[in-house]
Amino acid sequence: MRLDKLLANTGHGSRKEVKALIKKKKVTVNGQQIKDSGLQIDPEHDSVYVNDEHVHYRPFIYIMLNKPSGYISATADERSKTVVDLLPDAYKRFNPFPVGRLDKDTEGLLLITNDGELGHHLTSPKKAVEKTYYAEIRGHVTEEDVTRFRRGVELEDGYITKPAYLEVLKADGFSVVNVTVTEGKFHQIKRMFEAVGKKVTFLKRIRMSDLVLDDYLRPGEHRELTEAEVACLR
Ligand code: URA
Repeated sequence: MRLDKLLANTGHGSRKEVKALIKKKKVTVNGQQIKDSGLQIDPEHDSVYVNDEHVHYRPFIYIMLNKPSGYISATADERSKTVVDLLPDAYKRFNPFPVGRLDKDTEGLLLITNDGELGHHLTSPKKAVEKTYYAEIRGHVTEEDVTRFRRGVELEDGYITKPAYLEVLKADGFSVVNVTVTEGKFHQIKRMFEAVGKKVTFLKRIRMSDLVLDDYLRPGEHRELTEAEVACLR
């Protein structure tokens, strides 16, 4: 990697600004003062200092966001606020993207990263990664619904869903459930309940694979994943 790219990627300024830093002899690589901003370096092994401060290189970021309602799961949009807008500017130079989509009015667990391989692994239909949602439902969720979800329900377009696990937490005119699915069709949970004659009034993702939404994160808040959490997602 070029030295100026490393410094720009680690928050030391724009390419132009880091070139100026290098020219001013503020940068050393393995103890040598460097004047060539195009110098090729190995960011994992070479020791780079700016103004006597060690430069910590990390290629990837992994952020858990508790998505609030009202934000779209995209990196940029002309009309709506996006989930990436909720992150501090320091993360933006990593070009992070949300892994999978939650509807604008859905809340909860969203992984935001720039690790394309992990993102692909978690969203590939072949991997059938489990996602659990907490949902509030208008209508009485019954044992028959539990069975229908387990067997697969037919959506309005004829698609039959893969087996889903429905845990009923409260059942009367307004019901509360946790529902676990292994696919991510458009509006999937809302459409599954519509198929059994009920309406989702609140939806929040609480788990994806082994990653569980941190209870301490209020809607709109984020934190970085621990190394153990990243490892459990691979
Ligand atoms: N299912 C939905 O209906 N909406 C979501 O945002 C996620 C799953």
